[in-house]
Amino acid sequence: MGNLEDSLLEYGIIKTINAGSNVCCDGCNGPYPEQGDEINGGVIIGGSAYCQACSDRYGWEAEDYEYADEITEIMDKNKTFKQNVLDYREKMTGSTDAITRIYSIK
Ligand SMILES: [Zn+2]
Repeated sequence: MGNLEDSLLEYGIIKTINAGSNVCCDGCNGPYPEQGDEINGGVIIGGSAYCQACSDRYGWEAEDYEYADEITEIMDKNKTFKQNVLDYREKMTGSTDAITRIYSIK
């Protein structure tokens, strides 16, 4: 993170948006009310988190999935998608908060 963060600081932050501990799937925007917090598992691809329903829909965890090397992490099926994403954020950034920073360009 360090180098990117340092180089972006030269530009100056216009706005910081903290979505707190909110979690939604970058594929379908779920989990939806009928799934609630009960949906488990999920997959990280690059900087995006996808719920188990999307992973199942697109076959990302199939043994013969052609682009399996692009999957960053298959998350714990014994934990909720939300908890998995919060744990992943904490591991990657030191915080469970979803923080988006918008920078100016010179
Ligand atoms: Zn999804």
